[in-house]
Order: sequence, then C-alpha cells, then structure tokens
Amino acid sequence: MNAFSSQTSPIIRELPDELISQIAAGEVVERPASVVRELVDNALDAGASTITVRLLGGGVRAIVVEDDGCGIPRDQLPLAFKRHATSKISSLQDLESVGTMGFRGEALAAINSIADCAVSSRANNPNDSKNAAWLLDGRSGELLATARAQGTTVEVKELFFATPARRKFLKSDATELSHCVEAIRRHALARPDVGFAVWHEGKLIGQWRCADARQRVQDVLGDDFIEASLTLDHGEGAVKVTGFAGLPDTARSRADQQYAYVNGRFVRDKVIQHAVRSSYEDVLHGGRQPVYVLFVQIDPRRVDVNVHPTKIEVRFRDGREIHQAVRHAVQGVLAAPRSSMQAMQAAQSAPSPAQAQLAQNPFQSDIFKRNQPLAGVYTAQSAINLGINEVRDVAQLWMPSAALSPSIPSTAAPTFNTTPSGLEESITWPLGKAIAQLHGIYILAQNAQGMVIVDMHAAHERIVYERLKHQLSTHASPDAMPVRISSQPLLIPATFAATPAEVATAEAHENSLSQLGLDITAFSAKTLAVRAVPTTLAKGDPVELARSVLAELAQHDASTVIERAQHEILSTMACHGAVRANRSLTLEEMNALLRQMETTERSDQCNHGRPTWRVISIKELDALFMRGR
Ligand code: ADP
Ligand code: MG
Repeated sequence: MNAFSSQTSPIIRELPDELISQIAAGEVVERPASVVRELVDNALDAGASTITVRLLGGGVRAIVVEDDGCGIPRDQLPLAFKRHATSKISSLQDLESVGTMGFRGEALAAINSIADCAVSSRANNPNDSKNAAWLLDGRSGELLATARAQGTTVEVKELFFATPARRKFLKSDATELSHCVEAIRRHALARPDVGFAVWHEGKLIGQWRCADARQRVQDVLGDDFIEASLTLDHGEGAVKVTGFAGLPDTARSRADQQYAYVNGRFVRDKVIQHAVRSSYEDVLHGGRQPVYVLFVQIDPRRVDVNVHPTKIEVRFRDGREIHQAVRHAVQGVLAAPRSSMQAMQAAQSAPSPAQAQLAQNPFQSDIFKRNQPLAGVYTAQSAINLGINEVRDVAQLWMPSAALSPSIPSTAAPTFNTTPSGLEESITWPLGKAIAQLHGIYILAQNAQGMVIVDMHAAHERIVYERLKHQLSTHASPDAMPVRISSQPLLIPATFAATPAEVATAEAHENSLSQLGLDITAFSAKTLAVRAVPTTLAKGDPVELARSVLAELAQHDASTVIERAQHEILSTMACHGAVRANRSLTLEEMNALLRQMETTERSDQCNHGRPTWRVISIKELDALFMRGR
C-alpha cells in the first residue's frame, strides 16, 4: 500500500548518512569503471606522476589504485570518506573556476557506502618521518600505522556487496574489465606527462610511459591511428583546439574512437560532437563515424562543469564559440589537398637509393598507403601560393583534347612545364607525372616517392562538385539576387520525351532549376526542352543531366528543403558531369586532372567519401620485390 493512501500524514524523516551516500553512489557509480575513473581523477588531482591500477574480476572483486602524489596527512584521512568533504574548493568562487578533476567531495563517501574500502597514505611531512604512513579502514573507521612511500593507495573490494540488486546489472568480468581499461585510456590520452600501468589478475595488461602528446596518442590508440590522422592546432578567440582528426577513410561503423576533452576532462558534448560531425559531412560516407582525439582549452569561467554528477557533461557559456572553433580546426585540416603536403614532405626527404633499400617486411599487406599528409605544415592557402592552382580547367575533360591545351598562366611556378619529361618535374608535382591509364579506370603516375594511382572518375567528380559549390557560395551575398550557377544556353535546345512527373517537377521548380544553371521548360505536354545548362557541365549530355536533376528535385519538394539539399543536387550533377570510366584520356588530360586535384579542396575523397588516390613508395616496391637484401 502506498504511504499516501492511508489516512494519517506520512512522516518526514532525515535520511541516515549511509543511505544518502548510497543514493549518491547510484548516480556516481554505475559500474567498476566509474570507480576507476574517480580514483584516477583523485590521483591526478594529487599531482601523481605514476598511477598503477590493479583489478580483480573485471574490477568487481577488487580495484586498487596506487599513486605517488601528495598523500593525505593522518588527521585528514577520516575526512576523505566523509560526504561533502573536499580539499579542492572552499567557496562558490572556487567552483566557478575549478581546475581540478574532482570538487564535489562525494566520490569516496559514495564508493565507501557500497563497497569495502581502505585508504593508505603518506603525506610529505618532513617533521614526522616516523609513523608517517597510515591506513584507514573505511568500514570500521580504524586507523593503523603502516609503512609506505609518499602517495596514496585506495582499495575498493566487492563492489555493490551491500546492494545486491545493483550487482545484478553488471556484465561479464571481461566486459567490465574493458570498461575499466577504457576509463584509464581516456585519462592516459589527456595526461601524457603521467605514467600509467594496469594489472588484471596479477598480469600487466597495459602500460603507458610518460611521453609527449603525440607519442601518448600513438601508444594508446596505435600506430594506425596516428599515421592516418591530421594534427589539429587551432586558436580562435579564447578557444584553443588541439589534437588529432582521423582521415576520412579511417572512419568506423561505431563511434568508439571519439575522444573529446574540455580543459583536460573527458566529456560527451553535443556541441563538440556536432561540430566535428559537420566538418566531416562532405567527405564521409553515409553513417560512418570519424575518429578523433580533440582537446579544447578554454577559460574555466566560460564553462560550467558542475551540471552532471560524473561531470561527463558540461555547459558552455557560449556554445557557438566552441562550435566554430572546433569546426574551423577540423574542417581546415580536412580541406587542404593532402597530395601537396605529401610532396612537400617528399621534397624535404626524397628517398635516397640507400634509404630505399632499407630492409622492410616484404609481405606487409598494407602497402597501399593512405593518402597521408605531413601533418600540420601545410594549408590550402599555401597550395594557392605555390601558384599552380589555375593551371587548367579539367572540368571540361570530355572536350576534345585540343580544348585542353590553353597556355599556362604566367602565375605558374617556374618549375612548371607543359611537356614534362624526366624525374625533375615529377618531384615538383605532388601527384607526379601521368604515365598511363589502367583499364580505363585508373591513372598511373610517377612522383618523388614512387607511384601514384588515381581513380579518375572519383577525382574528377570531386573537382566538378567543389567548383559548383564554389560558384554557388562565392556569389552569395544577402542582398544580392539569388545566387545562380553560371549557365550557358544551348544553340539547339535538347528535347526529350518526359514522364508527366518530370514535366510537373520542371514546372514546379523553375526557379530552383535556374539557380542551378538549368533551363528546362515544357515543349509539349509530353516533351521537355533543355535550353541552358551550367557552363561547367556544358559538354555533357544535357538530357541525362536534366533527368537526374529532375529525379533529385522530385524527392525534395519544399523550397527550403531544396536549399538544404543543394549539396546533394550539386553532387548528383557533378557525378553526371565527371569523366566516365572507359573514356580514354591523353597524357596531357591526365596531367591536367592531377594538377587540378593538387589544388582542389577535399580532393582526396570523392563526393561519397572514398579515397581518390593512393601512393606506393619506391621503398615499398623494393620491399615487395625483396630488393636490397
Ligand atoms: P573530491 O575529489 O571531489 O574532492 P573525493 O571523495 O574523490 O572528493 O575525495 C575526497 C578528498 O580526499 C579529496 O578532496 C582529497 O583531498 C582526498 N583524496 C582522495 N584521493 C586522494 C589521493 N589519491 N591523494 C591525495 N588525496 C586524496
Ligand atoms: Mg574525487
């Protein structure tokens, strides 16, 4: 029977301390990993330089965290287990600019209420060298003299022993263990200056020595991660964004390698997640999840960390400033064409024959290197400064090759030469000199590092797409006429037999069509006429283009939707406009495509997020043939 259904009023009581702590534990301690996180937080706050975590039974049977931090003096020890007892803040002002991981003073009390706890500690007290280390039993409150070096060890045994109902929610030991390890990895990524060791059932299962930030990320997330990621280093106003963003082709089906930190604290934050997501939007395949480690530094007064019991969520005073800074940081490194960066790298360290003969595992499977850049030294702007950006208009690739030989503009870099021959130019050009076309699909080229393979349709599609987007955005200004893609009338309108739906769509979307550079009008009830097409796509098949754009438009009827779907429509147009497979290209056309790729933003991925080129270095080729052994 419900207390409120009886006639007498219910009695209001103060809850006993133990029960209050157990209730708090419900929020703070979900599983062993939560305890690990709290204890490592405390060790870091104590200034530890080495932290050792020992686990039994996935952390359910025991969690022991040992540090060499400042320690807790004898008289303070009993306070550590008291609710709302903390050494980290003492006023509301402190709370507003808190710089420690903890500050609520409830973790140890909560954990002690649902497990068997003990703390042993030795503070740095020069006046008391004898009897300096003490052990406090969390259950009995007994304080015993012990011996140990400076620092603290917290022992947590039989988690949830007092609350068996909660123990039932735990998963297998292996699963709990993996959560514990993940909690430590999160700390380890943020604190490369601290050494970590993790033991399970007496076996060392993870160890990260002190390192620099890059080395630590490599140690924790692996060589693959670091090799295929771009370095972030971006300041905007009061916000600083550093870290690493994975190349688009390393994206995963699960969001399990996304680490975001605010002032060193791991957070799950919608603003940051959205900013990263939107940075990858144009280069990522469908629902793929990018990988990243992202550190946001901001004045602590501009972020409230006291909005969630485990502090995994934060609230920014100005979410937009964070969103923009993160977006600019990630978008910036993703947009720069990486071919050019790689060439700069190669130019700095062109492989000598001796280097090329360095022993390597000849059977390594991953010889097709991702288009990996020299991180952080190169931007799209410097590509433009190279002066090779306006070489040629490859958007017109389907034109007879005569049309592809305009003179090179005088802004071209002196090393540029229209009739490349020999190795000199191929070193200068990031994507090298075209040698041949393979099966009508791939372009083979030779550059300073070795051999480059380009998916010509995928690459060209991106170039056309970026061009169309650029046309729509550069002419955009709030008060100007609606933006239009430049359009070219056809000498003879192209007519085609259309379905009633196509005719209806063409009529309903006349404005949108003209914005897209298309003029499609009804010729008769069953015939449509294409009278103008985008200049960029002038040499394509107008009827095919009209049909695919009408099909796309039919899916998005309201005009606002069209605005949002614009990139999709442009992408469809680009695919239509891009050079087809099996179209044979002259060497000159191939070279023109390579040059355009080198200076087109996002050209390392096609519009669907797949890579457009790969390089195999001479070193890798030598290894493949066991040369120099
Ligand atoms: P909070 O971290 O929010 O202050 P906790 O319950 O986690 O609350 O810890 C209570 C207090 O115990 C801390 O403020 C700190 O003074 C002390 N403490 C806990 N763990 C350690 C440690 N490993 N080294 C030194 N002091 C510690
Ligand atoms: Mg704490």
